[in-house]
Parts: sequence; C-alpha cells; structure tokens
Amino acid sequence: MLNGITEKIDRNIPLDRDELMFLYDREDLDLLAALAGKMRERHNGRTVYYNRNFHLEPSNVCSHRCRFCSYRRDSDTDEGAWTMSIEEVEKYLKDKYEPGMTEVHIVGSVNPSRDFDYYMEIIRTARRILPSRVTIKGYSAIEIADMCKGAGISYEQGLKKLMDAGLEAIPGGGAEIFDPGIRKLICPDKPDAAVWMEVHRTAHRLGLHTNATMLFGHIESREHRVEHLLALRGVQEETGGFDAFIPLKYRIANNALGIPADSGGIQEKEMEAIPFVEREADITEVLRTFAISRLALHNIPHIKSYWPMLGKDLCQLSLLFGADDIDGTINDSTRIYSMAGAEEQHPGLSARELVFMAEKAGFTAVERDSYYREA
Ligand code: SF4
Repeated sequence: MLNGITEKIDRNIPLDRDELMFLYDREDLDLLAALAGKMRERHNGRTVYYNRNFHLEPSNVCSHRCRFCSYRRDSDTDEGAWTMSIEEVEKYLKDKYEPGMTEVHIVGSVNPSRDFDYYMEIIRTARRILPSRVTIKGYSAIEIADMCKGAGISYEQGLKKLMDAGLEAIPGGGAEIFDPGIRKLICPDKPDAAVWMEVHRTAHRLGLHTNATMLFGHIESREHRVEHLLALRGVQEETGGFDAFIPLKYRIANNALGIPADSGGIQEKEMEAIPFVEREADITEVLRTFAISRLALHNIPHIKSYWPMLGKDLCQLSLLFGADDIDGTINDSTRIYSMAGAEEQHPGLSARELVFMAEKAGFTAVERDSYYREA
C-alpha cells in the first residue's frame, strides 16, 4: 500500500480513508514526517509563516456547556467571568494594538445576554479604532449561528451585516469533532457539524476567508479524526474558501472532561456516566496528527501550529510534520488555553522570537497578513 500512497502524494491525488488510517497506525514517525514534509514543500516550499496579531475575547459567559471548555462561566457573577461593554472593547483595542500588527482575532462565547447588535458594534468599533491594514477576523461559526438565530435572520443576512460593519475573515473554532456521537458527549448544546459547515460555506460564497479546526486528544478515535478531515476536504472541494487548518490539542485542566466523575470535582452529577480523559495526547500522537492532517487535506494550503496551545517547543517540532504557519505575536491577549493548563500562561512572543523558532527548525520565516500575503 505504501508505494501507491507515495505515488498519490507525488501526483497530488487525494488519499482515501483506508490509506490515511494505514499511515496513522504505522509506528514510524519518520516516514510520516517525510511524507507530510513532501506535501508541505509542494504547498509552501521551505517557508514558515507568522503574523503580528492580537486577540479580543469580549466575554466568557456562555449558555453552552462544552465539557472540554475551561474558559466558560455560567454568569457574570461567577468568579473569573467577564463581559466587556463596548466602551471596554474600545479601550482594550487601543491598549493592545501595536504598530505593525495586521490582525485582530475576535472570539468569545455564546452569551445569552448579548444580541446581534452587540457583536456588530464590536466589529464596528474595531474597524473605527484600528488602522485599515489590520484585518478583522471574528467569531466562530457557532457564535455566528447563535447570533443569527437570536436575531431571526439567515446566516447570509447575518454575515452580510457583519461584513458591512467591517468583518473580513472568520476563524475556524467550534468545529471540535464532527462525529455526532462524540459531539453529543463533549458539547451537547453545540449545533451539529452541518451548521458549522453551512456557516463556512455561506461565508465562502460571500467572499470571506475562513479557517477550520479539529479538537483532538480527548475521547475521540483516530477514525473520528480522519472522518473529520475528510468532511473538511469535501467542503474545500466545493468552495475553496479555507486558508488554513489548525489541529487543536485538547488540554486537560479545569474542565469537566478531564476530571474523574468520582473525584468530587466540577463534573456534573448527571454526566457521571460519560468517559473522562486521564491524560493529554502525548507528543507522538500530536505529531502524527499534524502529519495526517497535512496528508489528508491536500487541497487546503496551510496547516497552522498554534503555539499558545501546544507550547513553543512542540510547535517548532510540528514544522517537521507538515505545519507551515506558527501564528502570531498574540501580545498576551488570549486566555482560552492558559485557563486549560497550557504552558504559556501569558502568551506573547516578539516577531524576532517567531523568526528564531522557524529558522532554528531549518525554515525561512516570512511575515504574512491574514491572507498569506507577505506583510
Ligand atoms: S467552547 Fe465556546 S461554546 Fe463551548 S462552552 Fe466554551 S465558550 Fe461556550
């Protein structure tokens, strides 16, 4: 089978489910690195991309109860909860923006007390405050689906309104794992995969660039991951609108999925029957998953390795397994992964450090904008 797989990779023919599973289950990581490296070279040569960016997380109060989430709070009165007013958003944007930045990444929660106008006003404020070279990338498909539902409008109507306000791109969050059985166990309130995909299809039709993600290393199997990747590949075949795919490693701290039901921890009584996760995916599984992602998604140009989630060392190593983008400077502006136990509790790197990471791994660092043009 291996000869056939290599030939397909050489000819840019998509690998099928069986071929991907065959590669996933092989022990030799060096073979996966070589094959993923081959595909990476075809897409991106020896380039590793990075950008100067920061995040805005307007609220962590959420009506959903995703069991892998360490970020959410039930209400504004809970410890560690926040919801920014528009005035606070404005002040935050002014404080965090630094000259040279090219992107603000806005994601939050499904906040039951905020309506479509609030989210639109955030985008409008960002557009007013930030220079035009800063791309406004905002809201996961799940947030967009919820705000459109609340406003009684279609995804197309909602996205057009957000675009009129200044929205230019959409991040890839909320995809988690598409398999309905796993989804029901880890994020029962979340709309299904069809909704996530429909928001992205609509965005692509309207000319928005978007990314895609997969949350891995919890209770899903390798087969579930491969199915997820194949579903994304199918959407990309239809629309061509995904710029990058980001494999997101599940982090275990401070969430209901990572705590045994009998520990007296935060897991809810009624959920005691669901499986929990005892340990995070180890380094070999992470690297294997990066390589398989690169190989499965022959039609998505970039594989992003998000350093605030992986840590700097593992991010750097993933460049040898198909990744070509290490994301950005961040400027200590996201708490989603630090609240889940990531190594970086105040994530922020200088552009110089990002260049160092890429070059020490043997690549050429290129600063990009949100559309992978040289910045
Ligand atoms: S992952 Fe998002 S939607 Fe789910 S609970 Fe956390 S903030 Fe809410």
